Amino acid sequence: MLGEIRGEVRFKEMLSFHTSLRIGGPADIFVVPQDIDDIRHALLFAEREQLPVAVVGGGNNLLVTDRGIRGVVLKLEGCLGRAEFHGEEAVAGAGVGLSALIREAASLNLGGIEALVGIPATIGGALAMNAGTADGTIGDFVSAVYFLHPDGTIGECKPAASGLSFQEFSLPAGAVLVGARLRLHRRPYGEIQKDIKQRLKVKKQTQPLALASAGAVWKHPPGELATKLIERVGLRGKRLNGAEISAKHANFIVNRGGASAADILSLMELTRERVHAQLNITLEPEIRVIGE
Ligand SMILES: Cc1cc2nc3c(=O)[nH]c(=O)nc-3n(C[C@H](O)[C@H](O)[C@H](O)COP(=O)(O)OP(=O)(O)OC[C@H]3O[C@@H](n4cnc5c(N)ncnc54)[C@H](O)[C@@H]3O)c2cc1C
Repeated sequence: MLGEIRGEVRFKEMLSFHTSLRIGGPADIFVVPQDIDDIRHALLFAEREQLPVAVVGGGNNLLVTDRGIRGVVLKLEGCLGRAEFHGEEAVAGAGVGLSALIREAASLNLGGIEALVGIPATIGGALAMNAGTADGTIGDFVSAVYFLHPDGTIGECKPAASGLSFQEFSLPAGAVLVGARLRLHRRPYGEIQKDIKQRLKVKKQTQPLALASAGAVWKHPPGELATKLIERVGLRGKRLNGAEISAKHANFIVNRGGASAADILSLMELTRERVHAQLNITLEPEIRVIGE
């Protein structure tokens, strides 16, 4: 079945090449599918061999452990990378870059989704994480999502038709998101561009964008900002080898060069313990930790 894959199949591929943190050990079997059939072949192979499957989109929200991943890793960035526009709707494959979609929509005077500019993501990863900002999330735009079940059949969810919001949708276990329909609205290109420029300016001022990171490490506990809690317990700027709780934005951990996953995990553990001990608040990770 692996032989039927037309895309790439690599063995012992270092995942540090595929994560924004530049960290992560080897994946036993690393597949860059070319199309949905390739994803099917990989899923069926994994099922037959009883191997776990991990999906990587752009790798912007992932901490992969130093020992890497046993089983099959599907890398979807660069696959299913087409977007089409029909009226005020975009139909995008899971591998389409969010920023490319925002740019393409803007050039057609279609907006709304520019509220998500500056979030490094594939559409699949953005959907899986319901990525967003205080102004809204990608779920606000979803009219349908499409996914592949582990047995290779296609699933579909139209949140509004089922009386749900996208936020209430949960992807069936082992399924891979392959695309979505997103509702946009007419907005003049100039206005969208102005908005994008302003949003990117704020991101640049507040986030450590020049250094490798995986975005916000912790979810905001109800009524609190994780950043403020970390500052209150004195951990802003704390370093361990090449890892640092960012001095610019304490809810980011950056890799200043040579940091290991173990370094990041130690800083996370320290943060969690100290915030709990001093403030009696339990932080929950926003980043996904995967691997052995
Ligand atoms: C500098 C920086 C700034 C960021 N700012 C923000 C922000 O403002 N708001 C925000 O929400 N996030 C932010 N993030 C985090 C990150 O950009 C988002 O979580 C984004 O959605 C990750 O997309 P990805 O394609 O890289 O997914 P990945 O990191 O590759 O994967 C994330 C999760 O989604 C799953 N997944 C990915 N693709 C699929 C698929 N096709 N089917 C099923 N599961 C899938 C993966 O298995 C994993 O569990 C930031 C990250 C960085 C580095």
